[in-house]
Amino acid sequence: MTRCAIMHVDAYDEDKVLEAMRGIADATAFPDVEGKTVLVKPNILSDSYPEKAITTHPAVIKALITLLWEKGAKRILAGDSPGMQTGRFNPVNSGLRKVAEETGAEIVDFRESTRIHEVEGIRIPMTDAIDQADIVISAAKFKTHQLMSATGAVKNMFGLVPGLQKSPMHLRARTPESFARLILSIFREAHVDYAVIDAIEGMEGAGPTNGQPRHVGLLMGSENALALDKAESVIMGYRSVPIIEEAEKRFPGITDAEYPLLNPEDLIIRDYRRIPEGKKTTIRTLFLPNLLSRIGIATDGRAYPEFIHSECRHCLKCVNVCPAKALEMKGGRIHISRRECIRCYCCHEMCPFDAIKIK
Ligand code: SF4
Ligand code: SF4
Repeated sequence: MTRCAIMHVDAYDEDKVLEAMRGIADATAFPDVEGKTVLVKPNILSDSYPEKAITTHPAVIKALITLLWEKGAKRILAGDSPGMQTGRFNPVNSGLRKVAEETGAEIVDFRESTRIHEVEGIRIPMTDAIDQADIVISAAKFKTHQLMSATGAVKNMFGLVPGLQKSPMHLRARTPESFARLILSIFREAHVDYAVIDAIEGMEGAGPTNGQPRHVGLLMGSENALALDKAESVIMGYRSVPIIEEAEKRFPGITDAEYPLLNPEDLIIRDYRRIPEGKKTTIRTLFLPNLLSRIGIATDGRAYPEFIHSECRHCLKCVNVCPAKALEMKGGRIHISRRECIRCYCCHEMCPFDAIKIK
């Protein structure tokens, strides 16, 4: 049986985080990295300061990279490709650049070189850093997610798809269930060997960008990223989240794990501000909601984004990211066409000014 290790870590003290990372690796099946090239994929959704809890904290990335060197890795790559990246990937604010300088890891810009993968009949460009690496590690952040309820080690691998090329995939997979299936396929294509979740400071509320930091005080690691994400969702207090539900349907038993250190059932945060669980999309419920959504009425519990015009700074990031072309700036205001909107919440995720609410 696979193992998930969860440890209490109270703060981003570099020595303590490294000590915990070593303990987590010892308690699980950490991959043999000796003489190998390792790709570390942190969550750098945007190059934000660590205090915002949007990105994997640099102390966690540094501890992981230090551990990989200790275990004999030959070369370590670390990269991401934020949706709204302009210019070269240069993660200064998030601290990844400094970690790379201090540890000798190489920053990779996922947009630089890609290869097309056939995933579920969809042609998906993914960074060729996964082709260069012998070992792939997801280094995720403990956060809520407006569409997928929670984002952890599996959803983090969607970042292998460079920049804005992620957006059209929402058009191919419009419900949380179908998007979960797509994410699972991308995750499996990436052959993730190990996963870490930085849950020292998590995000609750309107994640993954505009939620609030929440002290959770945990560091988590496993050779089974799906089991680790299930543990994350349990701690957040969810009964189920789409990615785990789809994974368990497709591969029964896939999230079974032992917990050699702390058990997630003992760590549930009852008042964690979760995303309300929407109604399930079923064959029975698909037809009418689809029809009504064409005239802008949501019946499946998933709201349309609402724009707080007084907060909007007219950056147009939402307009540029919208895969359905449902947004336009008219008369100094963002207008949404509910007829076009597929409620993927990419606009909400990308708005740097918290000017979009999903109620
Ligand atoms: S992303 Fe936010 S701030 Fe920028 S135009 Fe859209 S609503 Fe306004
Ligand atoms: S308006 Fe927002 S939620 Fe609707 S399709 Fe565009 S990006 Fe997705």
